[in-house]
Amino acid sequence: MRLCFRFMMSQTVKTFDYIAIGGGSGGLASARRAASLGAKVAVIEHGRLGGTCVNVGCVPKKVMFNTAVHAEYIHDHADYGFDVTLNNFSWAEEKEKLERAVSANRQFESLQRSHATLNTHEARPSVDDLSEVITRLDAIESKLDLLIKQSKGKKYPEAATDSPTPISKKESVESIGVESDEEDSDLVYNGVQLLSLKAPPKEPTRYATRLAGVVFTKEEMLAGMDDVEYIPGHAVFTPEGNVKVGDAVYSSKHILIAIGGRPTVPAFPGCEYGITSDGFFDLEDLPKKVAVVGAGYIAIELAGILNALGSKVSSLIRYDRVLRTFDSMLSEGATNEMVKAGIDLQTHTSIQEITKDSETGLMTIHILKNKQDKVALSGFDCVLLAIGRVPNTDSLGIDGLGVDVDSKGHIIVDEFQNTSRPGVYALGDVCGKALLTPVAIAAGRRLAHRLFDGQSNLKLDYSNIPTVVFSHPPIGTVGLTQEEAEQKYGKDKIKVYKSTFSNMYHALTHRKTSTMMKLVCLLPEEKILGLHILGIGCDEMLQGFSVAVKMGATKKDFDETVAIHPTASEELVTMR
Ligand code: FAD
Ligand code: NDP
Repeated sequence: MRLCFRFMMSQTVKTFDYIAIGGGSGGLASARRAASLGAKVAVIEHGRLGGTCVNVGCVPKKVMFNTAVHAEYIHDHADYGFDVTLNNFSWAEEKEKLERAVSANRQFESLQRSHATLNTHEARPSVDDLSEVITRLDAIESKLDLLIKQSKGKKYPEAATDSPTPISKKESVESIGVESDEEDSDLVYNGVQLLSLKAPPKEPTRYATRLAGVVFTKEEMLAGMDDVEYIPGHAVFTPEGNVKVGDAVYSSKHILIAIGGRPTVPAFPGCEYGITSDGFFDLEDLPKKVAVVGAGYIAIELAGILNALGSKVSSLIRYDRVLRTFDSMLSEGATNEMVKAGIDLQTHTSIQEITKDSETGLMTIHILKNKQDKVALSGFDCVLLAIGRVPNTDSLGIDGLGVDVDSKGHIIVDEFQNTSRPGVYALGDVCGKALLTPVAIAAGRRLAHRLFDGQSNLKLDYSNIPTVVFSHPPIGTVGLTQEEAEQKYGKDKIKVYKSTFSNMYHALTHRKTSTMMKLVCLLPEEKILGLHILGIGCDEMLQGFSVAVKMGATKKDFDETVAIHPTASEELVTMR
């Protein structure tokens, strides 16, 4: 009987114009854009909406980076004449605030999801606004979900039995702090009656609901009108090429795979004692002594954060320097800066085993150094493994579907994000190329326009993608490294401008960091092929310069731009 029921259930196939598997940066951006272009769209997500970036990536990482920068500046305060006593840094307090901030993001997604809408990386209420109402949201969320479910597709009040009463103007003013003479309590949005308050001139109109007390601007409300259906659960392909979530089957002419990846876990004995970047964001306390294994973005960023906040950090790398795929100036510079900042850099290491003392809980890492010397590094209360990421394709059921993957499981796509199976597309981390949030978003939006807006030649240009490593100090890079340029065009065709100096910020500080800049130019015009910077402020400096590089700027264009003084970035337009 039960089996029969299941069988009948599985026969119902709901059809969409576009299904995005994965509600992370790429999937959400593409789905929302497709919906705004009139497509009937669904997003399937088995974890938390927002994906890696919002939950365990860019967003919480950047907050921690900012915290670490505070720690560095606090040390410099005395050098600038301030008499500041630092009593404590509370990781627990920081973590709680961070969780609230990320959760605010999530709650916002969740609330919007309840309204059958999705919105990430775009205008949204401030974290402060949202944090204030989180407690209330927690209490009412399940009720709200139910309510919206009941009212979906209909208009309040007939849909919802337990209808929300609009909040009074007074309550609303108290809740959202906007004074207004005008109000409109008749606005109904997906079954929830809203009170709108027209804010004073220049401020956007805001809306509040009694249920959530959450405040939306009109733009956010409108942005949220896109009809993206959210389907929670793990998606697998059926042999016919449909998508299955539990017993439900969905079909679509266009299916996007944007399922991202997860941290690589190595296979040596005792590796289970280590944590990955996901575990970093779960740490209850600042580790006292931590070993960070890996030499890429995540290892460098997290080692820098922990070191600045006061952990004793050992960095274990396989070769002589970190970020080996970056321009040699950056790679060497970043390695030196880590050592200068007090990180114990262990080069030429290969990890053999991690053991854990059952009494103290402290870990020992057994390594082979220089391929021959057995060394044991001990006393670690945390081992962080950051050695790359693997795509999530292993549980997607694509075997036999004609969707080609490479040896690591990344989905192979052409320049238009087409997989080898017609009607199936892939983008973002799952493709293993430029694993960056804005790349996934940009590719996702372009794909939506190509499929649903008649822009049949639209695709993302993967050249000259700017990227920043939030190290201490940060690194910014766009275009070809010197090594790549010389290999591509020949050494005699490349002219390099280089500068190393100390940022004026350090004029008074005992603590010093370097600033390094390099322009890689193609002769004879000296077209700028690569721009590489390391130093305080380089993270914010890069975006504007990358526009110039993308536009094909030459060294002469840079020279003709008047410098801004006194800044570090002026060096880029005055190099000789
Ligand atoms: P994701 O955001 O990972 O989304 C994929 C989604 O698919 C996930 O939510 C997952 O749960 C879901 N999913 C997987 N399989 C299934 C399935 N079968 N069914 C349903 N759902 C499924 N990038 C930057 O640009 N700047 C940064 O500063 C930065 N910092 C980072 C820091 C860290 C610690 C990490 C780990 C990454 C960082 N990144 C950064 C990279 C960035 O997070 C990713 O490039 C980006 O999130 C990729 O987006 P995506 O849509 O491809 O995948
Ligand atoms: P990365 O690919 O950046 O770096 C991993 C590094 O770990 C490798 O380059 C390698 O360096 C080293 N490694 C690989 N295998 C081992 C091993 N078995 N033992 C020891 N070391 C090993 O991966 P991440 O995990 O750091 O980050 C994944 C991606 O996420 C990044 O490439 C980036 O695209 C994105 N990201 C972006 C950020 C940003 O924009 N700021 C921040 C964080 C992540 P080597 O060969 O030198 O040993």
